[in-house]
Amino acid sequence: MNTYKQIEAAILSASTILITAHKSADGDSVGSSLGLFHFIEKLGKKALICHPDKAPSFLDFLDLSPITVMDEESEKVTQAFIGADLIFCLDYNSTDRVGSEMQSLLESATCPKIMIDHHLDPQGFTSITISETSASSTAELIVELIEQSGNGALLDEKIGTPLYLGILTDTGSFRFNSVKARTHEVLAKLLAGGVQHHLIHELLNDTNTASRLRLQGFAMSEKMEIMDENSVAIISLTKEELEKYQYKKGDTDSLANLALSIKGMKVAIVLSERDGIIKISFRSKGKQNPVNGLAANHFDGGGHANAEGGMSTLPMPETLDKIKALVSEYFPCEVKI
Ligand code: 5GP
Ligand code: MN
Repeated sequence: MNTYKQIEAAILSASTILITAHKSADGDSVGSSLGLFHFIEKLGKKALICHPDKAPSFLDFLDLSPITVMDEESEKVTQAFIGADLIFCLDYNSTDRVGSEMQSLLESATCPKIMIDHHLDPQGFTSITISETSASSTAELIVELIEQSGNGALLDEKIGTPLYLGILTDTGSFRFNSVKARTHEVLAKLLAGGVQHHLIHELLNDTNTASRLRLQGFAMSEKMEIMDENSVAIISLTKEELEKYQYKKGDTDSLANLALSIKGMKVAIVLSERDGIIKISFRSKGKQNPVNGLAANHFDGGGHANAEGGMSTLPMPETLDKIKALVSEYFPCEVKI
């Protein structure tokens, strides 16, 4: 039996299925959770989604009602973990990725757990593990689950819309080198199932707030430092600056790729101070310029070869000094003759 068939069998024999995903919800964690949720319902079973925190507001156009958030309803989430007889772990590779409160619930749960993920270095805490580090997104792997368990005919707009969105957001609108021929085959199946791709693009990409655009303008004109010799751009935003532009979760997500679009730039790093820490995003271009584990080795993080995330508890000036020293070490200037 292939692993996807095994997962289908586990769904069909479970009575209380819990779907979880990582902290700092994003398009893929939310999209893959909702897609799996609607697939399970279509199989005639019931599921619950519990996430550590709220989805960013740019995803408000989705029906987020199946998601219970730990930050808001911790008792309901606790009960869900206690009552579950099958837990899905989507879009994360180790238990510390769900935040400390949910981590202890997850680690105490004795029922079978299934990981479906595409991040590097999966930790072995699940009984069934799909860890495809070359997959574009976890949402793409949920489509594989539906197809390869023999349920492709069940794909409809309700299941497909969040999955399309998950693939779209994790691939920068199908641009990154994680996109393979198979990704487009999977997308074709979603469109054939009724997904209205043009509406998703419009609702996601062509819907901004004035404050988000102003924050982007400020970040680019006032807060971007370019280390020319190393081809690295660094943007840093303090808590006060984010507050001035009425920062909402997700507002800084596009900054790293925008900076990386500068001709000749190899790496872009964005630091933003929130929730008492500095969140750091690393992005780089191409297989020949991996982020090189900068986040995994020095900022308590991880992720993918060209996209990593991490954090710092040092104040902003010290964090910036540390990053600049590491940039010179990891991405030394090329010797020109
Ligand atoms: P972002 O910069 O968008 O927060 O994250 C980039 C990638 O790294 C995403 O795939 C994200 O899931 C992953 N990532 C972000 N923060 C962490 C972290 O603290 N630990 C690990 N292992 N991965 C992270
Ligand atoms: Mn993902």
